[in-house]
Amino acid sequence: MLSISIYTLGCKLNQLESEAIADAFRDAGFPVIPLNEDEPADVVVVNTCTVTSKAEQKARRIIRKLAANNACVIVSGCYAQMNPQAVAAIDRRVVVLAGDRKSALLDLPAALAPAEGSVCEHYAPSLPDSVSRLLHSPVSGAGRLEQFRYTPDTFSFHSRAFLKIQDGCDRRCAYCRVRLARGASVSLEPERALNQLRALEEKGCREAALTGVNINQYNSGMDLTGLVSYLLKGTQRIRIRLSSIEPDGVTEAFCAAIADARVCPHFHLSVQAGGDATLAKMMRPYTREVVERSAALLRSVKDDPFLGCDIIAGFPTETAADFEETLDLCGRIGFAWIHAFPYSPRPGTAAFCFKEKAPEREISRRIDALLALAHEGRRSYINRQIGKRAEAVIEAADDTPPGFAVGTTETYLKALLQAPDGGTPRAGDAVSCILTDAGHAPLPRAYDMRGTIL
Ligand code: SF4
Repeated sequence: MLSISIYTLGCKLNQLESEAIADAFRDAGFPVIPLNEDEPADVVVVNTCTVTSKAEQKARRIIRKLAANNACVIVSGCYAQMNPQAVAAIDRRVVVLAGDRKSALLDLPAALAPAEGSVCEHYAPSLPDSVSRLLHSPVSGAGRLEQFRYTPDTFSFHSRAFLKIQDGCDRRCAYCRVRLARGASVSLEPERALNQLRALEEKGCREAALTGVNINQYNSGMDLTGLVSYLLKGTQRIRIRLSSIEPDGVTEAFCAAIADARVCPHFHLSVQAGGDATLAKMMRPYTREVVERSAALLRSVKDDPFLGCDIIAGFPTETAADFEETLDLCGRIGFAWIHAFPYSPRPGTAAFCFKEKAPEREISRRIDALLALAHEGRRSYINRQIGKRAEAVIEAADDTPPGFAVGTTETYLKALLQAPDGGTPRAGDAVSCILTDAGHAPLPRAYDMRGTIL
């Protein structure tokens, strides 16, 4: 029986698609095992990312190692979509499946169905050849809607569920390769989204994150605001978390819809810079004033929501003064976390040929400054939550001492929770708790807070 591992790089969308691929293999009777680079599974799916050159380097290193250790390596995802030749050149045994054909991996398990006899006998002339033949055979109903076939029954790598509502993007941000890899924006019909969310709720899932490349581009007879209201009306209990949102997508109508208590008070804004000059060169369709207003609007409908953001440091043409504007904006808004990324030149993007680039040392200084602000913001946010009541979804964590459980609160904080009667809740359960203090003692793992289950 072939053993299978899945290795995922990149965004929540890739994570969700990998969950569905793992599910398909398990349903076909294959054991899905944790990745072991030195003694890999018979088949390893590497689901790649192309957002930064670092993500591609990481993929190349692991693909090379797995192939050298005789795994049948199937590489898909955005890097495989953008550079199939470069991926194929890593090792001739690697099977490359372009990102827009990734859904063929959902059909592969049934075609590879476990058979008697040894791998060599069954998969002649070789496993990679058989896999490649199966993956590249015409897939029934191939077409854009294949993008929404990723609906895992169980989530083996996450305790909370994801729901893919959108893919691709119609914007033209100057640094972004995602839109080149994933194509134009497409949206899942609201009825299918509701059916999937109801199915998760019926299975006992207490939370689902609405996911896509740019969910603010959701458009299927209604926009994201309409979809959120429609999903809330059609379900009872499951809480909804939103993956990254665009500052210019935060309107009063949107805030009226997300004011519902079942929408998690945790918002991650794709900000990227804080100066209008840099935003314009990035081809981001908003100004710093719009970012400030979006934060104020979100805070007007939620009690102290967790606001996070993405910032790119060192975008070509960004001067030290431009960067000070970014720091100033982040400080004024008081983000609870900042994902700080060093600019990564991406072939095929408008900014790739921009000349004025800040020296590496200066970019690192800017990243450090953003991270210092991020840690400060997180500390003060955590201190504001002490004594507050929270709803946490319990995570599967095997290093938790008896009588304790780890949960993710609606504000996206990781909390180490003491169960009063010593009876620990199961992974996936939702519990009410009081957040008692910051920090994670007595355990080595980093937790934002400690608390007591009510
Ligand atoms: S909004 Fe911009 S950065 Fe985001 S996926 Fe679209 S093009 Fe890329």
